Amino acid sequence: MAEELLKISHLCKTFNAKKKSEVKAVNDVSFSIYKGETFGLVGESGSGKSTTGRMIIKLEDLTGGDILYKGQNITKIKKKRDMMQFRRSMQMIFQDPFASLNPRIPVNQIIGDALKLHGICKTKEDVHRRVLELMDIVGINRAYVNRYPTEFSGGQCQRIGIARALCVQPDFIIADECLAALDVSIQAQIVNLLIRLQKEQGMTYLFIAHDLAMVKYISDRIGVMKDGRILELAPANELYNHPLHPYTESLLSASPLTDLIAERHRKRIDYDPAAHQYPEGAHPALHEIGPGHFVYCTDEEVSGYARRLA
Ligand code: ADP
Ligand code: MG
Repeated sequence: MAEELLKISHLCKTFNAKKKSEVKAVNDVSFSIYKGETFGLVGESGSGKSTTGRMIIKLEDLTGGDILYKGQNITKIKKKRDMMQFRRSMQMIFQDPFASLNPRIPVNQIIGDALKLHGICKTKEDVHRRVLELMDIVGINRAYVNRYPTEFSGGQCQRIGIARALCVQPDFIIADECLAALDVSIQAQIVNLLIRLQKEQGMTYLFIAHDLAMVKYISDRIGVMKDGRILELAPANELYNHPLHPYTESLLSASPLTDLIAERHRKRIDYDPAAHQYPEGAHPALHEIGPGHFVYCTDEEVSGYARRLA
């Protein structure tokens, strides 16, 4: 079994607690991510994906639960040195490539500042050399090193965002809807870049998206989230070929398929949440129905799901 890089247990986040506007954005979420894998997290907008990612990278405090990263409880990091080390090990790539780059500074400085901030390069020459290397790695022409973000396309800006994340040679990258703002043809290029980087540098990804199409392509395992909970978690192919939870089925039916023949026969399946309004006293939880295939359900529902896999 691969090494467990990240383990989150019973993670909770409540916004505006005890007010009328209280939201349980993340409600008892547990999963692990193993070294070198890509874990996809999918679900409609508002399901709690970003909040989960932001807690993992310490941009957001937790209401409850634990996050172990490399065996260390990250909520307990106190020393500045440990914090620096954590910040170097984990990076994030954001949804909006333009908004995440300062339009007033050229690309050499965007990447150079990140290198200096983390104390990666000592001299000006070191910084310059490394900036050019990073541009090569993400496929931006070196000749553009003095250009500003506004002079680049969305896809190029996302490559620059990726270069900036790579400055610290991170072990773990959270990509939060990093394709959502890009054209479909560009999405594939960025996904291929991420896959190549993972092969070359052995990184681990948490890949967040609202649509299953690209997630299926890049992920080893996928968690399906709705209303702050994981409803189904399985290896990517298994989830795609044998979805069990009705919500996963509806997500799959809503996702554009690359196969044109299948696309023609695609039927939309609507999800009726009433089917899963469990009465008081019922204790739904994630149950393992097949190997590594978990579904959020009650003890009574387990056998029904298991029959479908048999
Ligand atoms: P997703 O990334 O899946 O779209 P989010 O994690 O952004 O979902 O949001 C989950 C829920 O938490 C939503 O209902 C959202 O409105 C709410 N939420 C997120 N951030 C905040 C915040 N800072 N204050 C209040 N509510 C928030
Ligand atoms: Mg989000």
